[in-house]
Amino acid sequence: MDLKDYIRVIEDFPQPGISFKDITTLLNDGAKYRQAIDELKELVSELKIDLIAGPEARGFVIGAPLAYALGVGFVPIRKSGKLPYDTIEIGYDLEYGKDTLAMHSDAIKPGQNVLIADDLLATGGTISTSVELVKKLGGNVIGTAFLIELVDLNGRAKLDGIDVFTLLTY
Ligand code: IMP
Repeated sequence: MDLKDYIRVIEDFPQPGISFKDITTLLNDGAKYRQAIDELKELVSELKIDLIAGPEARGFVIGAPLAYALGVGFVPIRKSGKLPYDTIEIGYDLEYGKDTLAMHSDAIKPGQNVLIADDLLATGGTISTSVELVKKLGGNVIGTAFLIELVDLNGRAKLDGIDVFTLLTY
């Protein structure tokens, strides 16, 4: 079975019309989880990465093991109010409502090459806000990496020109 067979698709979650890609079934299998991270590592092997940044919560599940595998640091991008030190924050629109993402103001040194990782690229709202935060701290966003890309939602369009690396597409 290939990796896609380990993704469980749940129709009408969290609301009618959404076909939710549930990665917990892949994470549940140690060999397949490792395979997914190893394949992502291979996809980004040409990049000179100093740090990986990932938005909570599933960006941690992909970004942190990828950082470990590459031997680089990991920076959490969190919802507002969770980080203990000085933060910078940017608000963004969700399909319904608004949210705010935050990073520690000293998490990235100007000029560091940052790869941003998440489980899934949908409309691109989460990742483009993450890109803005990293750039605001002076980071150089050298790419974005995802386990899954929902191609029809065209999240790439929000990433003007930044490289997108994805393992599985729907
Ligand atoms: P975007 O901001 O519209 O690109 O949505 C991407 C964010 O929403 C990611 O952080 C995902 O974790 C989450 N997300 C959206 N759709 C799904 C899905 O079908 N499965 C899992 N996560 C999803």
